[in-house]
Amino acid sequence: MNNNELWQSVLAQMQLHISKANFATWFQNTEITAKDQEKVVISVPNAFSKEWLSNKYYKIMLKTMHDMDSTIKELEFTVNPQATKKAAAPEAADMEKMESEQLKFEEFKVNKDTNLNPRYTFENFVVGSFNELAYAAALAVAENPGNSYNPLFIYGGVGLGKTHLMQSIGNKIAGSGKKKKVKYLPSEKLVSGIVTAIRSNTMDLFKAGLAPIDVLIIDDVQFISGKTKTQEEFFHVFNSLYEKNKQIILSSDRQPNAIPELEERLRSRLGGGMTIDVSLPDYETRLVILKAKLQEKNMKLPEDILEYIASNVKKNVRELEGALNSLLIYYKTGGTMPNLETAKKLLKSFIFSPFDVANYKKIIETVAKFYNLDEKHLFHETRRKEIVKPRQIAMFLLRKELKYSFPAIARKFGGKDHTTVIYAYKKILREVEENSKLTEELNLIKQRVYSG
Ligand code: ADP
Ligand code: MG
Repeated sequence: MNNNELWQSVLAQMQLHISKANFATWFQNTEITAKDQEKVVISVPNAFSKEWLSNKYYKIMLKTMHDMDSTIKELEFTVNPQATKKAAAPEAADMEKMESEQLKFEEFKVNKDTNLNPRYTFENFVVGSFNELAYAAALAVAENPGNSYNPLFIYGGVGLGKTHLMQSIGNKIAGSGKKKKVKYLPSEKLVSGIVTAIRSNTMDLFKAGLAPIDVLIIDDVQFISGKTKTQEEFFHVFNSLYEKNKQIILSSDRQPNAIPELEERLRSRLGGGMTIDVSLPDYETRLVILKAKLQEKNMKLPEDILEYIASNVKKNVRELEGALNSLLIYYKTGGTMPNLETAKKLLKSFIFSPFDVANYKKIIETVAKFYNLDEKHLFHETRRKEIVKPRQIAMFLLRKELKYSFPAIARKFGGKDHTTVIYAYKKILREVEENSKLTEELNLIKQRVYSG
């Protein structure tokens, strides 16, 4: 076996063990340049590749080669300047290409039968107080589809992991060997499927196609708002699956109650099982998510940069991931680790100011201080006027400024029924219109919340 063949078999092995994106990053422009009995010399394009390959992949590469040629006992990496040139920092266009290739790869992996993307699993879903209830419910459904919560309705803002969680359920069931038929449908697909079926008079066919499904997952169901015909047909599809004890899982950016122009009977079906929200991760969880994502990608970034991202990118998990990826792309393509200064520059577009500097702690602190209360007073169950109003304002701001869901706020305030929170929110909203004093107070509080 010559050097080239040996290396090709190593590459083939490595491809099985690591993601395509990582493979492209670490093994581009590598080759075996020398082999003298026990030692194989591998040339790599830069010092950065050398470090990663020797730290991360040494064992597995050695084992693969040793399996093929038992005289091989040692590997050595050398940096080849020729290859370095080829792998020098690419133009912006190249970076875009890299990104889009990765995207294509993700799409390519989607299972044609189930529409599920295998990258979404429970194992790589980070759980924190912001999503633990949704996670627990999802796991229960995955373990006992059709018999625990039906339908399961997960709602919350964009980029908070709804799709990830629902697809994890689907992947777990599909991979359980129980021969359950799973189907994931973004609601746009459901709508277009129904519309086409109505137009071409093939509704029966459409329904027959869905009949054998054991687990139906509909993502972003709010999009059926206002689509009367679709809702009517979906109602029937829903019922026929539900009656047969088939599991239905839905997601939306809001609760069934808050979806406008939704037929009443469908609304009550959607909310007839378990309705549960995902909210925003806190700082600690954001840090955990960043670390989990890095581990998944087999990458490393300095702690100070991670802390910087976690404390500044707060909007949602998708933004967090985007911020991380933009640093990783810099790192992969340029071959140098960004320092904090560079990271700050690269992340500018992810850091929002002044709007995103509000957070839970600041709102509670500011409201308490504004009304001259101890923070803990805000959480007291009391009818005392001087406390009721600030508490309602705190609830109002958590909702309005941070987009917390009503149940999430209710939990913060000692597990109160979330209708209490809705009541508080509506009351403040109404009063702001009539009461200029309150408007002024609110503006002052907001200013304080947003000014550092
Ligand atoms: P949504 O459907 O709520 O808009 P997604 O499920 O698409 O959000 O999540 C956006 C991105 O963030 C995805 O890449 C997803 O994998 C990631 N993500 C969201 N929540 C988590 C989590 N708890 N743990 C790990 N990754 C997450
Ligand atoms: Mg989604």
